[in-house]
Amino acid sequence: MSSIMDERVSDEIEALEAILMDDVTIKRVGDVPHIIETVLHPSTGNDVDRQYVCATLVVKLTPGYPDSSPEVTLRNPRGLDDEILANIHMQIREKLADCRGEPVVFELIELIRDCLTESNLPSGQCMICLFGFTKGDEFIRTQCYHYFHSHCLAAHLISGRRYYQEELELLPNWQQVTRAPFKEICPVCRITLTTIEVETLADAPPPVASFTAAPFFLTDEMKELQKKMAKLLAYQMSKGGVIGCGDSGPPPLTITTPEDNENNENSNGSPGASNEGAKASSGIINGRQNGNSSNDNSCPGSPAARPAYRGPYRGFNRRGKPGRRGRGAAR
Ligand SMILES: [Zn+2]
Ligand SMILES: [Zn+2]
Repeated sequence: MSSIMDERVSDEIEALEAILMDDVTIKRVGDVPHIIETVLHPSTGNDVDRQYVCATLVVKLTPGYPDSSPEVTLRNPRGLDDEILANIHMQIREKLADCRGEPVVFELIELIRDCLTESNLPSGQCMICLFGFTKGDEFIRTQCYHYFHSHCLAAHLISGRRYYQEELELLPNWQQVTRAPFKEICPVCRITLTTIEVETLADAPPPVASFTAAPFFLTDEMKELQKKMAKLLAYQMSKGGVIGCGDSGPPPLTITTPEDNENNENSNGSPGASNEGAKASSGIINGRQNGNSSNDNSCPGSPAARPAYRGPYRGFNRRGKPGRRGRGAAR
């Protein structure tokens, strides 16, 4: 019995490796295949640019496989909302039940690929404008499988570059030459975007929903939410940072207040450090390395020294506050 099983499994593994080649990873314990992993995309022929969703299929072979079902998970789903994922999982369970006793990995790949092809449209919102994607929208999928309206991403990257340039010009010459060059980064996962042509994107029209959306007004519900969030923020600040589930180490993000910055200024020996950014707002979120390593202009005594945050959103807190050299999102 076991030799038959081995043959079924080994045939399947051999076929997977022959057909998927580098696209499949087989993890073995000794000689025995244990975990099969492959990244799946929708079927769009050779047109990779039209693949808007993907997911990694992970099949863990149980000792009795294929007479017992393997453990199947989908990891790193991109562009798929919870409803679609739940539907795929349901179909996977049905397929596993139907195919007990026979190798099932190819069946799973085909099933999931079909589901991805059906759902090959970004779901959810553009994380820049928070509108969804509708018919007529021009949108882009980054190499990290995040979606934005082309118009929104272009505006974001253009303002990021402009901010970088403006900050650069404020630095003394010796710091200008050593400053890392501007990089276009994904506003969601901060990976460096290498395949984006900003000028082309900038030609795209604004999101369709931005023309038809109801005018914004503050509802009672939102006011309640604001109160709740203000309370949460106060709690997080009293704890010294944004709190993650089960966090034990230092918080990945820390919130500094103008007072913190003044205290820092007094204790870190950079009396010349200007905290204008911090003073201009009631709370600023900085990276973990707040204060030193990433603060490339924190030279003691330098009149141009500023807090570490350098992203394009830094103008957000200063909206409507004049006298900041006119930089930032308020323009
Ligand atoms: Zn957008
Ligand atoms: Zn990303």
